[in-house]
Amino acid sequence: MLTECLGVPHVSTGEMLREGVRRGIGVTDVTAAKMHAGALVSDAVVDGMVEERLGRPDAAKGVVLDGYPRTLEQARKLSEWLDQRAVPEVVIHLAVDYNIIIARLTGRRECPRCGTPYNVALRPPKVDELCDLDGEKLVRRDDDGEEVIRRRLDAYDRQTRPVLDYLRTAGRRVLDVDASDDPPETVFWKIGQAIENR
Ligand SMILES: [Zn+2]
Repeated sequence: MLTECLGVPHVSTGEMLREGVRRGIGVTDVTAAKMHAGALVSDAVVDGMVEERLGRPDAAKGVVLDGYPRTLEQARKLSEWLDQRAVPEVVIHLAVDYNIIIARLTGRRECPRCGTPYNVALRPPKVDELCDLDGEKLVRRDDDGEEVIRRRLDAYDRQTRPVLDYLRTAGRRVLDVDASDDPPETVFWKIGQAIENR
C-alpha cells in the first residue's frame, strides 16, 4: 500500500534473499543455511545487495526499504550512503507485541504458483489451504515455524533494537507506529498520519 501510494519500488531484503535461494543465484550455501536457522545474514552480503538495488534507475525517486537496516553496521552504512547523496529518509518503527507476531507469522501461507499471500487467521483463502486464484495448495515458508520465529525475535532484540537507539541518537526521523491490533489498512493510515505530522 505504501509503495503504491508513494509510487516507488518496495525493496525487501528478505524477499531478495529468498528469491536468490530459490533461483540458486547470488546467495551462498552459508547464507542459505543461516536463513533456514533464523539467524541474520552477514552485513556484507546484505549491504552489497541493497547498495546494488538502490543504484538502479527505478530507485532514483526513492524506495521503501523493508527489513533493512537490521544491524548497527547496516544502519551506519545506509546513513552514510544517504548522506553522501543528500537523500532524506523517514524511519517507520512498527511496534507489535511478540505474541501477536508469533500468531501472525505461524499463520502465514503463500501460493507457490502466483505468490499471493494468505494468513489462516487474518486473511484465510475461501477454500482451506488452497489459492483463491488458481487452486494451488498453499505453502508455509520454511522460516515461519514457531521455533525459527522465536530465534528471529531474539536476534531482533540483540541486533536490531540497538539500531533504533542509534538512529534516534543520530537525530534521524524515527516515527513510532503502534501496529499490534489493527488491520493493514489502519496501520497504513497511521503511517500516513505520522509522516504528515512529523
Ligand atoms: Zn495462486
